[in-house]
Parts: sequence; C-alpha cells; structure tokens
Amino acid sequence: MDFSPGIAYFLGQLDKALLAPGSHISLASLAVALSIGLTVLAARRYRKGRRIRLKLLLRALFPKTIMSSRSNLADIGYFYFNVFAFGLVCGWALLSYAMLSHGVTDLLTAMLGPRRPTSLPPFVTRSIITVVLFLAYELGYWLNHYLSHRIAFLWEFHKVHHSATVLTPLTNFRVHPVYMCIFLNIIAVFTGAANGFGDYAFGQATHEYGLSENNIILVFFIYLYVHLQHSQLWISFTGWLGHLFMSPAHHQIHHSRNPAHFNKNLGSCLAVWDWMFGTLYVPSAEPEKLDFGVEPDRETAHTIWGEFVAPFGRAAQVISRRFDGRSPQPARLSALDRSEA
Ligand SMILES: [Zn+2]
Ligand SMILES: [Zn+2]
Repeated sequence: MDFSPGIAYFLGQLDKALLAPGSHISLASLAVALSIGLTVLAARRYRKGRRIRLKLLLRALFPKTIMSSRSNLADIGYFYFNVFAFGLVCGWALLSYAMLSHGVTDLLTAMLGPRRPTSLPPFVTRSIITVVLFLAYELGYWLNHYLSHRIAFLWEFHKVHHSATVLTPLTNFRVHPVYMCIFLNIIAVFTGAANGFGDYAFGQATHEYGLSENNIILVFFIYLYVHLQHSQLWISFTGWLGHLFMSPAHHQIHHSRNPAHFNKNLGSCLAVWDWMFGTLYVPSAEPEKLDFGVEPDRETAHTIWGEFVAPFGRAAQVISRRFDGRSPQPARLSALDRSEA
C-alpha cells in the first residue's frame, strides 16, 4: 500500500500550522509569547527582589500539574483533530468567502450601478480594507461567541472549550467541530460581505495586507497576546486599555467558574464589541483567584466520549425538550440571569 499521499498531507498540515509565520499556532508566534511570558515573570520577580533563574521561570510557566493534567491531554487531542482532520471531515460544510464577496459586489452593482475605480492610491485602499476586514472578523467572532453562550443547543458544543480546567495555548484548539463549523461560516459571511462592500466602494478587487493568508492585524495580535489568553499568567489591561483590548486576563475571566464572570468578554483581540454590547468585564490589575471549567464536573470530562460524542446527545436533548413542550433548557446563566430567574 502506498502511504506517501497520507504522509505528504500530514507534513503539509504540520507545515501550515507550525511553520507558516501567519498561522494561528506558528512556532514563531509561540516563541514570542514565551518570551513575553518570561519577561513579565522576570520583571515581577525583580521588583520583589527575588532571584531570576530561567529554570524557575519555566517551571512557573509550565507547572507539572498543568502539563500532565487530563485537561491538557484533551487539548492535545483536539489540536490533532483540528489541524489534521477538521478540513477533511467538515470542509464540505463551509461557505466560500470569495463566493460571498463576489455575491455582495454583484448585488451592489445591480442595485446601484457599475463600480467606478477609486483615485486613492493602492496602499490607502489596501490599508482601509485590512482594517475593515479585521473589524468584520472581530464582530463575527463576538456574535458567534455570544450565540454560543446564549442558545442552549449551541452552548452544548461550545461547553467543550469551557470544560478545560487548565489553560495552555493548545486550549485554543479545544473546540468541537460543530462549533468550529458554525464559527467559520459566520466569519466567512462577515468578512466576505465586508470585502464585497470594499471591492464595490473602491471599484476594483482590493486585497488586504496579510501573512500566510491571515489578516496582518490579526497576526500582530496572535504574536502579541492571543496565545497568552490561554495561559495561567495574569496580564491584565485596565482602564481605557481594558475597554479596547482583550488582555490575557480578560479571557481567563471568560473561563472562570464564578457566575459573576459568565458570558463576559466574548471578543477575540478587541474588547470594543463587548464594551459596546454590554458584555465587558475589565479585570483588575492584581490577579483574581479563578477556577476554570464548567459545572457540574462530569466523569467523562476530557475523554473522547465526553468532549466529542456526548455533546451531540446533549444538543439533541435540548431540541427534544423544545418539541415535548418541556421548559427549554437554559444556556449558560450569568449571575444576573440567576438573580432574575
Ligand atoms: Zn465562551
Ligand atoms: Zn478560551
């Protein structure tokens, strides 16, 4: 039997994930995140007059209890699934960004008349579309995340991400394929529509600035702090900065088991959509004591059955309750919802 196509596919996916500089999990961006983490820890120890040794810093960043936890092993399993298998299993279910973009441009042309090429220089139009597409991505991300928390059926699939009891950069990959499929389609709709408007407004196809097919502003944030959002290192943006950007502490609050933190900080890199729609929780400068995960703890948590198969059954139960006339199962109830219930 010839295994070479399989091996070539495996290596190609690994190359795209780890070596492409603009990928969501490139080794280069992980190295930058590690450097930032080490620098922050070293500066804190220096201020307290404590010794700075690389071994101690690494132990603080990668404690054995986290690295060997079942939660982390489940994250690694999902990392493999989402890098190597997701496209093969779910690729057919994804809308085409290019098709949506052309559709919007054609619709605008039919409604408003033919496009007229802009006199703006290309670097201006490309810069504008880069910012617009980044904002469209962030809004689509916020909306998908909001729906995943507020609609019980969707929450059963998103809960997989929240069942992580420790946070590492690989937790980013701990997402159920149904969640991932809906997320990618919503992102395609938002960015495809925004690109269609841009192409029409500028009178020609206008391409964003990117790296490895990702928006360059998004890549900038991936390098700066997106990996650290899934870590136990408290780096918080407070004040006006905390209203604009989603610091690592913002996202750690999002994973908290404390009901006061439920359904807060749903954005990706920016906090502005949360601020605008009333779901922002600006973390304090000092670390808040947080426990991660969802309640109740299930025996099957972190297993293939519990995190991959069972969500289908639980989501089906949500639907059947609706049709049986039983009271609908709630999605994630925030502290406010509980007090009103
Ligand atoms: Zn969430
Ligand atoms: Zn997360």
